[in-house]
Amino acid sequence: MSCKTISAKEISASYREELKTMIKTRGIKPKLVGFLANEDPASIKYAECTSKTCEETGVIFELRKCNREELKDQIIEANEDDSVHGIMVYYPVFGDLQDQYLQNVVSVTKDVEGLCQICNSYQNIPYLDEEQIKNYIIPCTPLAIIKVMEYIRVYNSVLLYGNRLHGCVITIINRSEIVGRPLAVLLANEGGKVYSVDINNIQEIHHGTELKLKTYEVRITNLKLEEILPISDVVITGVPTPSYKVPTALLREGVIAINFSAFKNFEDNIKEKASIYVPTIGKITITMLERNLLKLYDRQLSLKNEE
Ligand code: NAD
Repeated sequence: MSCKTISAKEISASYREELKTMIKTRGIKPKLVGFLANEDPASIKYAECTSKTCEETGVIFELRKCNREELKDQIIEANEDDSVHGIMVYYPVFGDLQDQYLQNVVSVTKDVEGLCQICNSYQNIPYLDEEQIKNYIIPCTPLAIIKVMEYIRVYNSVLLYGNRLHGCVITIINRSEIVGRPLAVLLANEGGKVYSVDINNIQEIHHGTELKLKTYEVRITNLKLEEILPISDVVITGVPTPSYKVPTALLREGVIAINFSAFKNFEDNIKEKASIYVPTIGKITITMLERNLLKLYDRQLSLKNEE
């Protein structure tokens, strides 16, 4: 079977064009500040890509390097600076619970990554206000993966919202609080049956038979990777180690394989089994970050107009 490899550049192209036109037509100068407080090569590369993509679309990007001890105060300063419309931080900073604290230091009005409202993904809360005008900022990496799945038509647009992944079995190998866990819930809330894999166990997240459960259910299973991979229509992986590889032999014929790790988590022969292979998603994530920035820019503008 021939496999189609789809690049992040291809998937993000129409969104980037839309952003570029909108920024140019409106003559606006939205400004994003990125804080880099680590020496992690993946973060440095991500910051370089952010700068390049922002330049292409007309977003002003400023990278601020600092010590991790100074970061909290620097974020607060940017929160209060009216010329800054969006803030992002390159994680890990401390690599522990302090990082979750920092996520919440970023003002909700400037959080382009959607990390300080992450619990909304779990509660299926689409709006921030009672009038249902301001929809909340979906965390940008899970959102980028959703855009990949929409692009390759995994979502069935004939079905109602909330059901568009009915019948689809998805394995996600990563359960971090910023990507894997919110993504699993977002996909289950669209009707998918999700196997969420981390280093310790495999959880099943779903809305029950015929999607009858009002809220998603999480069940720890005794299943092994060898049992879930052969029945998965989509396998999404984000293990942050170069040695980790998903065994191609265990995958279903025609599987959709999506890698968001900085390392190649699929074996070199993945194209022998997959129907569609998406090797990286970085450019889509940055594009989603920019879309979030424009939403926040407009909200800040309407707040100013109300004053
Ligand atoms: P993390 O360290 O917070 O989480 C890693 C997850 O992988 C954990 O759930 C862990 O249990 C799981 N894991 C580790 N080893 C495993 C194994 N052998 N089997 C099963 N599960 C295992 O990392 P993170 O912040 O979620 O980032 C993960 C990767 O994704 C990194 O390489 C990062 O650079 C990349 N990333 C990419 C983007 C993007 O947009 N392209 C965005 C964020 C993160």
